[in-house]
Amino acid sequence: MEGVMKLSTSAARRVQFSQDALRRWVAAQGTNQAELQEMARLERQRHYGNRLFLRAVVEISNHCDCSCLYCGMRRQNGALDRYRLTHEEIMEAIGKALDLGIRTIMLQSGEDPSFEADAVCRICSETRKMGAQNVILCLGMRPLEQYQAFLAAGANKYILKHETANPVLFAKAKPGITLFARLHHLLNLRRLGFAIGTGCICGLPGQTDEDLADDVLLMRRIRPDMSSVSPFVPSDDSPYGKHPQGDLERTINLMAIMRLALGAALIPSVSALDTLSPGFQLRGLNSGANVMTLNMTPRNKRNNYLIYKEGRRIVDLDHVQRLAEQAHLEPASFPES
Ligand code: SAM
Repeated sequence: MEGVMKLSTSAARRVQFSQDALRRWVAAQGTNQAELQEMARLERQRHYGNRLFLRAVVEISNHCDCSCLYCGMRRQNGALDRYRLTHEEIMEAIGKALDLGIRTIMLQSGEDPSFEADAVCRICSETRKMGAQNVILCLGMRPLEQYQAFLAAGANKYILKHETANPVLFAKAKPGITLFARLHHLLNLRRLGFAIGTGCICGLPGQTDEDLADDVLLMRRIRPDMSSVSPFVPSDDSPYGKHPQGDLERTINLMAIMRLALGAALIPSVSALDTLSPGFQLRGLNSGANVMTLNMTPRNKRNNYLIYKEGRRIVDLDHVQRLAEQAHLEPASFPES
C-alpha cells in the first residue's frame, strides 16, 4: 500500500490492479486516502480538465416487476403510491431540462413492461428532435428487439448496473436474476451500438472489501463508458431495511479507484451520498467524479420514486452550481462520444 500510494500520478496509471492492492485502497484512510483522491483528481484533469458534466433525469415510472431485497420500489412493496408519467408530463420535464441548457437526458424507471417500447421510442425520438445531444436509458432488462428499437429511435446510452460482482450476493439480492444474465444484457447493449454504463452498490449485506475490489476488476473488464458507485441506503420497505447504510468513506474511495482504473469513464457523484450525509457529494467530486444528475421528475411524483427512503437529496441547478464552485469545476455539456 505504502509503495503504491507513493507512486507519482503517471506511475499510478501503470499500476497493476491486483485484487489485493485494490482491497487495501478501498479501505484507505488519512494520508493514503488523501493521496488516492489527489491522484484521481489529476487523472480526471488529464482527461477532461475541470469540466463537470451535467445530465437530467426524469423518473418516468416507479412500477417494478423486480423483487430486489435492497430496493423500496420492489414489486412486493404495497405501501408505495405507484405512478407512470404521461407522455405530456415527460416531455414537459425534458423541455425544462433543455431550457436550462442540459442536453443529456436520462429516462429512468423500475422494470415496468407496461411502459411499452413504443411509448419509450416516441419519447426518445421527440427528445432528439427537441435538441438533446444524448438520451440515456436506465429501464432495466428488456428484450433485445426493444433495445434495437430504442436505439433506432434515438437513445444512445444505456445503464444497467451490475450491482455487485459477487454472483452469490447478486443472486440473493436480486431473486430470479443472475449476474451472468445481467452482464449478458449489458454486453449485448454495447454490441448493438449503445454506450454502456455499469455500477455497483457499496455496503450490501455480506459484502466484503474483496467483493468491492472485484467490482473494480469487473468494471475494468467491461470497459464501460459510464460507471457509478452508490452507498447502500436502507429502505424501511425492503427486506434489507434493518441493515446499516453503506460506508461513505469506502464509497468515495471506490470512486477514486474507479477513476484510476477506468481512465476517461464518466463517473457521477450520486445524490445518495448527500442523502446519507450532507457534504459527501462534494467529497465525491473531490475523489475524481465528473458527472452530476439534476432531477427533473415532476415535484408531485418524485417523492414516490422511493428506492430507499424519504428525504432523499433532490439535485437542482443551484446545488450543482454550488458544489461545482466548491470543487473548482465548471459545469459543461457531456463530451461527444
Ligand atoms: N430498473 C432499473 C434497473 O434495474 O437498472 C433502474 C431502476 S433501479 C431503482 C436504479 C438503481 O437504484 C439500481 O441500479 C440500484 O443500484 C439502485 N438502488 C436501488 N435501491 C438502492 C438502495 N437501497 N441503496 C442504493 N442503491 C439502490
